[in-house]
Amino acid sequence: MMTNDQRLTGKRLDGKVALITGAGSGIGRESALLFAAEGAPVIVVDIEDHAGDDTVSAITKAGGRAVYVHADVARAADTERMIASAEREFGKLNVLFNNAGIMHGRDDDAVSTDEAIWDLTMNVNAKSVFFGCKYGIPALRRAGGGSIINTASFVAVLGAATPQIAYTASKGAVLALSRELAVVHARENIRVNALCPGPLRTELLMKFLDTEAKKQRRLVHIPMGRFGTAPEIARAALFLASDESSFVTGTEFLVDGGITAAYVTPE
Ligand code: NAD
Repeated sequence: MMTNDQRLTGKRLDGKVALITGAGSGIGRESALLFAAEGAPVIVVDIEDHAGDDTVSAITKAGGRAVYVHADVARAADTERMIASAEREFGKLNVLFNNAGIMHGRDDDAVSTDEAIWDLTMNVNAKSVFFGCKYGIPALRRAGGGSIINTASFVAVLGAATPQIAYTASKGAVLALSRELAVVHARENIRVNALCPGPLRTELLMKFLDTEAKKQRRLVHIPMGRFGTAPEIARAALFLASDESSFVTGTEFLVDGGITAAYVTPE
């Protein structure tokens, strides 16, 4: 529920502390900037230290509060440390945004994808969410509840003829485990939602769609006829992080320009 403080100042995350993984780039960076502007101190987590520091500088320059923590989300000890740093730096944790993810260049169909690529992708994209929750949920309990947002993808619900078998499986795992977490922790005032972006104009996707022809091949399937942007996903994440979504849990929150609704798209 919204507190009187929030009604007075109008900031949507006043009184909340947020941790965002993969906050050095794309969705994570835009969310960190937005969450901080809406009143939350932010733990910025990444493995690219320069990028993470840059996000923190942008937040502090704009008058917000943030600290950078180097953590590889595929490693248990790192995720335990990142959660501890939220409580140490800002006294508590209210919003856990498990967002970091990779799409490997050698992730292909089942026949040609190496086991090592499968393992790496599952570890960074799915096991990371397990670790985040393993160490984050006790912190959220100590704070009296909170919101967990796990970045899945539209590929968790749609098959594509451009294969990336490990990535797709990892995002299916994120979606499924988000549902179970939501049900298990609902009575503890902990909400858990999977955020499912459609194809975005971020580094992650554009390094694969590196020609106009490849871009057009994807755009055919998006009713809106364009890629989404990281700020558009950050605004959806803000809704899930804030008390405005107080009755929203266990959802596959699709923000996808209509791609999952489409059979035939407009000419
Ligand atoms: P991005 O590549 O711009 O940012 C990802 C960030 O995660 C980077 O800063 C990277 O350094 C960090 N990271 C990578 N591995 C890490 C690790 N082991 N530990 C900590 N940090 C790590 O990507 P993005 O487009 O902002 O993607 C963010 C999330 O959104 C990912 O989970 C991605 O799968 C998902 N997503 C992206 C799209 C898209 O089209 N871009 C669509 C659907 C879902």
